[in-house]
Amino acid sequence: MFLSLRYSFTFLFTLLLTSTSPSRIALTATQDLTVTPSATKIAITNHIIQGLTNAGRGTKISGISQFKRHLSRFGYLGNKNNTSFDDVFDATFESAIVRYQRNLGLQVTGKLDSNTVSQMITPRCGDPDTSIAPYNHHHRHNHVTKNFVFFPGKPRWSRSMPMTLTYAFSRENMIHSLSMKEIREAFQRAFQRWASVIPVSFVEVDDFVLAEIKIGFYNGEHGDGEPFDGVLGVLAHSFSPEIGRLHLDAAETWAVDFQATASEVAVDLESVATHEIGHLLGLSHSSMKEAVMYPSLRPRGKRADLNIDDIKGVQSLYGSNPNFRSQWSLESDMSANQGAEFGLKPFSLATSLIIIIVTLVHSLCS
Ligand SMILES: [Zn+2]
Ligand SMILES: [Zn+2]
Repeated sequence: MFLSLRYSFTFLFTLLLTSTSPSRIALTATQDLTVTPSATKIAITNHIIQGLTNAGRGTKISGISQFKRHLSRFGYLGNKNNTSFDDVFDATFESAIVRYQRNLGLQVTGKLDSNTVSQMITPRCGDPDTSIAPYNHHHRHNHVTKNFVFFPGKPRWSRSMPMTLTYAFSRENMIHSLSMKEIREAFQRAFQRWASVIPVSFVEVDDFVLAEIKIGFYNGEHGDGEPFDGVLGVLAHSFSPEIGRLHLDAAETWAVDFQATASEVAVDLESVATHEIGHLLGLSHSSMKEAVMYPSLRPRGKRADLNIDDIKGVQSLYGSNPNFRSQWSLESDMSANQGAEFGLKPFSLATSLIIIIVTLVHSLCS
């Protein structure tokens, strides 16, 4: 029961939150938008929405092409640099939707239903989902569903354990809406989350060139073939081991405190930093919505605490930090006895409720 309740609340949350943000235009537009669609941002008109839900194989609806472009951009439909797509709902498109729905933990309908469209317009990480495990890899073991995924070839940092990795911020590629101290502290907390569960520590150094992990904020095209797209859409991206590059979209309204940053399109720096560090360590996207490695994050949303899925994933690459006392192993023992998947669902539900209430109050006051 918790499961279905939580999903309804999550969806409600989506509607509430997006009702005050520009992306909400997508679902309530009363007139056609003039926004130029890009692969990472979908501009949806009323006209398109009406035909979407029931569209199935063989139908042709103006606007399908941008969904194809989006699915292609994130690894579901052929060459991601392909720019010409038609508006035909064909079998290839349908199977791409099915894979997308599985990978994002949505109900698998093979249709562009409202949950799927809502997910596609949610801001996300720029790394593709291609390496998400195929359906049959989502096996159950001891009542725990395993959703974490590695990059192809399972790359990781090869150093003797325990290892220390250095990181540095690019002086030239910084934002000025937050102080250097705020940025530095958000990253310290993000690195510490991972360091507390694996025998890897992180230390900041001044020398950007020599640092193993290089962090910077960039606008648009910035030299790695993965241009950023302005406000929302893609928030950040990073590279698998041992490349060590972590890039954030400088156009976002980055926040470390939503009380101090009132913008409806504010993005939590610490949550995104924690997610991107997961990539740097070798984790790819998880299909578990509660995992830090889930690919999307709503504006003003937070998801920085490591989930059991993130912890198990990263520990299978690096082993456990000897000081890590697993609350999860206790809970999974308990939940195995009770036949539940995890002991943390009530917490997620409570958190969702608090977020919804806060969002409601916020939107009523503004
Ligand atoms: Zn990602
Ligand atoms: Zn980049």
